[in-house]
Amino acid sequence: QAEDALAADEAPGATADGHAVQLLANIGTPQDAERVAGTAVEGVGLFRTEVLFLERTTAPTRDEQARAYAQALAAMGERKVVVRTLDAGADKPLAFATQPDEENPALGVRGYRLVRRDPELLDVQLAALGAAQSEAGTPPWVMAPMVSTAAEARDFAARARAHGIATVGVMVEVPAAALRAREILAEVDFVSLGTNDLAQYTMATDRLRGELADLLDPWQPAVLDLVDATARAGQELHKPVGVCGESASDPLLALVLVGLGVTSLSMSAGAVPAVRYALRHHTRAQCATIAAAALAAPSAEAARAAVVALLVPEV
Ligand code: PEP
Ligand code: MG
Repeated sequence: QAEDALAADEAPGATADGHAVQLLANIGTPQDAERVAGTAVEGVGLFRTEVLFLERTTAPTRDEQARAYAQALAAMGERKVVVRTLDAGADKPLAFATQPDEENPALGVRGYRLVRRDPELLDVQLAALGAAQSEAGTPPWVMAPMVSTAAEARDFAARARAHGIATVGVMVEVPAAALRAREILAEVDFVSLGTNDLAQYTMATDRLRGELADLLDPWQPAVLDLVDATARAGQELHKPVGVCGESASDPLLALVLVGLGVTSLSMSAGAVPAVRYALRHHTRAQCATIAAAALAAPSAEAARAAVVALLVPEV
């Protein structure tokens, strides 16, 4: 019954005092878009397009991609859709795009870096997104994964804009990008924190190594510091800073993220109701107090405990 009540709440994401925080879904296929469109999410915050490329020996053509993107855009209607360009490599190997013999694939030619080897792959995808936006009549937000420098952000933005994409962003999932978020945000319209990879690279811990899960924890103080640095840059430049890593689906951490100044949270659609509920029961000022307590804590466990101690009683 409590779950039914949670699911029945379809109001847009907001704190108790009405500060809006977009609650978005992570998807991998156009069919996912059709599914989440039937829920109260405010849009798609991460469309992992590599799912379209998996188990293929060649890249899908421009038209094939355009059809898939248009289908996802059409499913979401007027709602925001953030499409991520191909994130191949490391934990997402692709037969035709990545080298199987790379010694350190997580530190190698993955994500946006593939443009060095195969710019055509990215340009065809951006052309497909441009065509999809004409077909669907709604403009996607488009972002690149694994960007480390402002120069990479500038290059990506130029390529995307050349294909008629109006709203261009990059993911912040490398510590260098978080530390230089101001310079990166000067080149693009928005950023989205990928806390899965940000934790991996900040803590020098393979995200697939279960035995090191305590180090990979997004509550680690160093990871929170980098989220804080990125959110501050967004506030200074008046540009959106979202989170699309798994951390956004933890209702307690969501309060911290909002307190740090994050403007949207993207997660699996099923996680949205609990996050919506937690936000609704805390004011923006309470989130800021909660975030300050988490940042001041000396460890991930201490940060969690500090936040739990500050929750309003209903949560
Ligand atoms: C992330 O790294 O947090 C992210 C959202 O991207 P992915 O999990 O697809 O690498
Ligand atoms: Mg990532």
